[in-house]
Formats: sequence, structure tokens, C-alpha cells
Amino acid sequence: MPGICSIDTFGISILKGEMTSKTTKERRRKESRLLRAAQYSDLDTTDPDVEPPPGSVLADHAALSHNNTHSRFPRFYVDQVVICRNCGTEEIWPADRQKWWYEVAKGNINTTAILCRKCRGKDET
Ligand SMILES: [Zn+2]
Repeated sequence: MPGICSIDTFGISILKGEMTSKTTKERRRKESRLLRAAQYSDLDTTDPDVEPPPGSVLADHAALSHNNTHSRFPRFYVDQVVICRNCGTEEIWPADRQKWWYEVAKGNINTTAILCRKCRGKDET
């Protein structure tokens, strides 16, 4: 039966996936995250009509009040693609790290990551 056959194929491909090295899986995961982030790049995160997509992190406007700006605050953060100005590496600036930067480290809302983690010389930001 074709149905059973395709289930078998699926089972085998899952098994193969589990056998690939951690590095390969890690790279694939990173690549798909980059693709997703690229799709979000023209999303207006301040627009009240825009639904926060999966993987986004909601913003806390009280925590953003240090910003002396008339522009609207983002309602949520989504993963951003950063192309490092130093080495050209494409990297994700994850939504939760953006929240940390703007709301905990009190970074200015108009600032954005321009260097990859390696060129910033630390892993934790
Ligand atoms: Zn770099």
C-alpha cells in the first residue's frame, strides 16, 4: 500500500536525521532561522495591526521609557539578520537578545547590532 510505504520512508528519513552530526543539524537549524528572520525584515513591529509572528518576544514599553523619542516603540521583537560590518558574517540577532539590549541594558531604541558575536568579542550578547 502506498500509504504505508510513505510512512516507512518518513520513518527512515527521521532516523537518518538523528544520525547526522550535531554540527550539521546545528547548521541547518541556523540556516532556517536566518531564512525566517529575512522574511521578517520588512515587518513593522510598531504597527498595531501586525500580529506578532511565532518566535517573537513581546516588548515591555515601561522598560523602554528611558528612550527620549517621539517614534513608536516596537510591540514585539523578531529575530533580525545582522550582516557583520567587520567580517561580513550573516548572523541572527535573536528576539530575546534584542529585548535584553533595549529593556535590560537600556540600549537606545534607534541602535541595532552591526557586528557578529565573534567580532564583538563575547558570546553572551
Ligand atoms: Zn564579524
